[in-house]
Amino acid sequence: SSALVWFRRDLRLADNPALQAALDAGHDVIPVYIHAPSEEGEWAPGAASNAWLHRSLAALDSDLRARGSHLVMRQGGSLAMLQSLLAETGAAAVFWNRRYEPAIQSRDTLLKRTLRGQGIQADSCNGSLLFEPWQLATQQGQPYKVFTPFWRNALTRWKVQPARDAPPGLSAPRVEGARLDTLGLAPKVRWDAGFWQHWQPGEAGAREALEVFIDGALAGYRQQRDLMDRVGTSLLSPHLHFGEIAPWRIVHALEAGRSAAADADIDAYLRELGWREFAHHLLHHFPATAGENLNPRFDRFAWATPSAASLQAWQRGRTGVPIVDAGLRELWHTGYMHNRVRMIVASYLCKHMRVHWREGARWFWDTLVDADLANNTMGWQWVAGTGADAAPYFRVFNPVTQSEKFDPQARYISRWVPELEALPLKARFAPWQHPHLLAEHAPDYPRVPLVDLAAGRDAALAAYRRTGAG
Ligand code: FAD
Repeated sequence: SSALVWFRRDLRLADNPALQAALDAGHDVIPVYIHAPSEEGEWAPGAASNAWLHRSLAALDSDLRARGSHLVMRQGGSLAMLQSLLAETGAAAVFWNRRYEPAIQSRDTLLKRTLRGQGIQADSCNGSLLFEPWQLATQQGQPYKVFTPFWRNALTRWKVQPARDAPPGLSAPRVEGARLDTLGLAPKVRWDAGFWQHWQPGEAGAREALEVFIDGALAGYRQQRDLMDRVGTSLLSPHLHFGEIAPWRIVHALEAGRSAAADADIDAYLRELGWREFAHHLLHHFPATAGENLNPRFDRFAWATPSAASLQAWQRGRTGVPIVDAGLRELWHTGYMHNRVRMIVASYLCKHMRVHWREGARWFWDTLVDADLANNTMGWQWVAGTGADAAPYFRVFNPVTQSEKFDPQARYISRWVPELEALPLKARFAPWQHPHLLAEHAPDYPRVPLVDLAAGRDAALAAYRRTGAG
């Protein structure tokens, strides 16, 4: 008998519970991918995600071909495509790994019910999280809104799936699908060309990124993860988002290197994976938060309406605040931004510019290769102060002191805002304080910040007080 294995955000062959379940039941596997962006509600993948997805699907197809199989790609409604593939192949079962975005959860629930009603076996597995989003609850049985107790509970119930190698061979599916190119995922204008010096989408690229991290930045991760002037983190986020690697494989690889010296770094890294788990927990329990404040007090907050020009100055890294511009340009050129810089640019938008966090979340959604509804929503609401366990609204990041602290030689700034390189170091963090140097050495850079730091901060705090928060 044969079964469809429906690949979604689990674009890998090792550690793939749905694939494994089909094989364990003795089925011949028909690997399927269905392109159905209209089923993602308001959050169809953005341009950078699609560019990544294109390459990740190509990698998966080639890994399948190396095992005698191939990926059957289709375009159209998921249910209709699965039904037609079931009819074409005579398969009587479908296996997939779960996704947790609200629109996808509802679609999948309906789809599973419909297939089962037609006598088809339809089974889903956990392919992307250490804990199901509904697994952990407070002592009162409520969802967590604060990270630390969530994570403490997670650690007491720690039970990580074993790693499983990819199957060595698979049977050849007797159906063909659409060609990858016809899905329209790759950009027509090749703006992504520069991305691929930085990234290798696919399972092999994910494994390599993990090895590079373990041999390199893991030692010192706890101290260095906030420094922007070096590769101090794993760069695994897009691989995790697309399921090119299972989080539990990362956990096993780190645990294998446990030692007194490595403990603090390993625990710090596991805690970051914990934030990813927490984000999925939040989105599952508070599905409206991708677009609405988690904390309703902020529904009264007087966000400013930005002009198109000022929003574009932020998006393109022309605000006149070097660390903010550096981050947004890194994003534009590589599809990625360092975590601390994400917080700084987000704070500048939501606090100094007083623009609704949704605008920023949308921009990230379209431009990040790791755009992830759970992580992005939590990240923006955290910085804006509107979310769970959020930085209090009155904590406004000062971009100048942040960059002095975490980019002390201004290497990150100089890399992404090279027009400031000719300035002496002390002038590169806040060039408007050195108008003569700026005019002489960087005539094309904005003279003054889009929003003055002190004035922007005061206006944000005043607006916050008007919500009645004190
Ligand atoms: P590492 O430091 O190596 O961390 C390892 C993994 O842990 C990451 O790959 C990621 O999966 C997870 N992780 C780390 N930090 C966080 C965090 N704060 N929240 C949730 N998971 C985390 N991350 C995304 O994956 N997608 C997003 O769309 C996204 N949007 C963000 C928006 C804002 C405003 C902010 C402040 C953060 C956002 N993050 C997002 C979280 C974080 O910035 C990235 O996960 C991280 O920078 C990825 O780099 P890395 O893989 O080298 O991280």
